[in-house]
Amino acid sequence: MPLVVHPSSTCDVCLESYATENDAHPHAIPCGHIFCRVCLVTVEPTNCPLCRKAFNRERIKKLHVDRPELDMESDLLQRVALNFDALPPTKAQLSIDLGAWLAGRPEDDHIALRKAWAAFQVYDTLSERKAHDKQKIKRFERMLAQRNEENEYDRDTFKAVESSLLAQVSQLTAYVLLLSVVSSLTCAVVSRLGRLQIWRLKSTPSDSS
Ligand SMILES: [Zn+2]
Ligand SMILES: [Zn+2]
Repeated sequence: MPLVVHPSSTCDVCLESYATENDAHPHAIPCGHIFCRVCLVTVEPTNCPLCRKAFNRERIKKLHVDRPELDMESDLLQRVALNFDALPPTKAQLSIDLGAWLAGRPEDDHIALRKAWAAFQVYDTLSERKAHDKQKIKRFERMLAQRNEENEYDRDTFKAVESSLLAQVSQLTAYVLLLSVVSSLTCAVVSRLGRLQIWRLKSTPSDSS
């Protein structure tokens, strides 16, 4: 049976919990005491922080330890919870790790992790749809702005046509007014001439007497 590190185990120097990979993995020195690698490569002088026995940094040994099952599960659960909005590569890696860990495990087991993962995937689909909808809305907004611009143009054209028509109408009105003035003047002149004619006829002496 492999040596197992309990989730609550911490390095006695920095008090950080041991991780399964990287420098936070437990390391042993010849006196048999265990610390994280970060602390062992930085401690000055090179004496064991617990028993004070001198050690050589080159003789630091990485311990091959497993984490208990529950710890792996809670680790994955934590990664699911923290990566809802992570970048695609992180999500892809999480999907691979989770798939590998769940493969071959009974379907009715690890329910919390399975449910969290299902929620994660639903959220992922919804965020993708949201991004898609956002693009669609932007497209509609652009179309609307363009349509408004065209309407503005149409309104300007309409206004120009309208004012030119109005100008023509007022010209016509003036012309009609002028015509009526001219025609009434003509009438007046004609009737004056008529009266003059009658008067001249009356005042001409008659030769037949
Ligand atoms: Zn440490
Ligand atoms: Zn020691």
